[in-house]
Amino acid sequence: MLTEQEIKENLQEVEENICKAAAKAGRDRSEIKLISVSKNNTVDVLESAYRCGVRVFGENRVQELVGKMDHFEEQGIKDIEWHLIGHLQTNKVKYIIGRVAMIHSVDSEKLAKAIDDESAKKGVVTDILVELNIGDEESKFGLDFDNTLEFVEKIAGFKHIRVKGLMCVAPYTDDPEENRQFFSKMKKLSVDIANKNIDNVSMCELSMGMTGDYMVAIEEGATCVRVGTGIFGKRDYSIK
Ligand SMILES: *Cc1c(COP(=O)(O)O)cnc(C)c1O
Repeated sequence: MLTEQEIKENLQEVEENICKAAAKAGRDRSEIKLISVSKNNTVDVLESAYRCGVRVFGENRVQELVGKMDHFEEQGIKDIEWHLIGHLQTNKVKYIIGRVAMIHSVDSEKLAKAIDDESAKKGVVTDILVELNIGDEESKFGLDFDNTLEFVEKIAGFKHIRVKGLMCVAPYTDDPEENRQFFSKMKKLSVDIANKNIDNVSMCELSMGMTGDYMVAIEEGATCVRVGTGIFGKRDYSIK
C-alpha cells in the first residue's frame, strides 16, 4: 500500500504525462478526464487520494463501489464522481442507478434495458458507454467492432439512458505502440457513428487507455483515461 506522499507523486507524474500527450496531439488538457481506478484499494487509500485532490474514481465491482460510495457519503462528502468501469450484471443495476456518473461497460441489450428500466423507476437518465472487445480477445467482455453500430441504433430508443460514446480495454502489452491501431480504430468508429446523427447518441466520449498505454490513447483521441496501478501502485488482490 502506498503512502499519501507516494500517491501524490504518482498523480503529479500522471498529470504531466496527460499534458504531454495532449500537447503532442494538439489537444487541450481539459478535453481529457482522468479516472483514478481505485479497485482493490481500501477506503483509507481512497481518502488519501481524495486529500490529494482526486474527485473522479473508477471501480469495477458493484459491491465494492457501493461500499466506497457509502463510506464517503456517511462523512458528508458529496463532491466525488463515481464511474462503474467493470462488467455489470443486470441484477446489480439497481444498486448503482442514480449514484454513478457513468456506466462504461454496456455490452448487451439486456443490460441496456435493465439500466433504462431502473433509471425510469428512479426518474433519472443514465449516461452510458458501449464497450467493445477491440482486440477480439476471448477473455474480454464487449461487443465486436462490426456489430457496434447496429447495437447503438438498437439501444438509442431507450429514453432513460444516454449513449455518450465508446469504451474498450485494449490487450495487455509491454509496448503501448501495439495498441495504437486499436485506439485509432475506436476513434474512427466513434466518428462514423456520430456522423449517423442517431437521436439520443452523442459519441462525445472515448474511454480508453490504462496505466500501460494512456498516453498513446490520448494521442488517438481518448476523453477518459482509466489509470489504476500508475496512481495506487500494484494491486493487492488479497484485500476483499
Ligand atoms: C483495473 C482497470 C483499469 C486500470 O488498470 P491499470 O492497468 O491498473 O491502470 C482500467 N479499466 C478497467 C476496466 C479496469 O478494470
